[in-house]
Amino acid sequence: MIRRSVFVIVTFLALLPNIGLAQNQPFRVLALYSTNVESDHVDFAKQAIQFFAEHAEKDHFTFESTTQWDDLTKASLAQYQVILWLNDFPHTPEQRAAFEKYMTNGGGWLGFHVSAYNDKDTHWPWYVDFLGGGVFYGNNWPPLPAALIVDDPSHPVTKGLPAQFISPANEWYIWKPSPRLNKDVKVLLTLDPANYPLGLKDALTGGDLPVVWTNTRYRMLYMNMGHGDKIFTSPTQNQLMENAILWLGNRQ
Ligand code: ZN
Repeated sequence: MIRRSVFVIVTFLALLPNIGLAQNQPFRVLALYSTNVESDHVDFAKQAIQFFAEHAEKDHFTFESTTQWDDLTKASLAQYQVILWLNDFPHTPEQRAAFEKYMTNGGGWLGFHVSAYNDKDTHWPWYVDFLGGGVFYGNNWPPLPAALIVDDPSHPVTKGLPAQFISPANEWYIWKPSPRLNKDVKVLLTLDPANYPLGLKDALTGGDLPVVWTNTRYRMLYMNMGHGDKIFTSPTQNQLMENAILWLGNRQ
């Protein structure tokens, strides 16, 4: 009996380092972006690259970035656990097909702002479905700060955030239909309706405006933040960004 207990304890102890290792397993992140797009979107991409590169060391993941969207191939994507789209989306059928395969096979994706933009000219129905079905409908102008509400404080992505906070100046997008109406979508942050009307030249006047959400059929997260050089000026929002990448890397 004693011998058996010792065996159980030894086995348990032997397993412990492996459990620790699994949680701290390094993961690889690739960020894709474009420089021939709106300058405010390029500013965001450059700051995002700096932010995630700094956190890579602290949080033990590797971080690379590229403007080569042709790197979206099955072979290249197989090397990464998480990919980021900072200010653009793939435009060729080959790039799109490789991404669909990557996501269907369990790859992780974090998309910002204009990366989810789609309209009648996008011609990529799979992607609209992947995002939860919303088509771009409108935005505020100029970029403005806005109060956001945390929908689910128990989710790893919103861990440590207050119930409500002011998100720095951004161009906010509204979608039709709202992704919230999709049963597979879990909305994590929403624009507080108290912000309406939001904007001067172009004003958002009402409606459901999810800001951060996941389509639970995939390991994906979309964040509407991503316009201009103020996005990383809020420690609270920076925490959200860090949570997001760790969650997609299966670390929390
Ligand atoms: Zn924008």
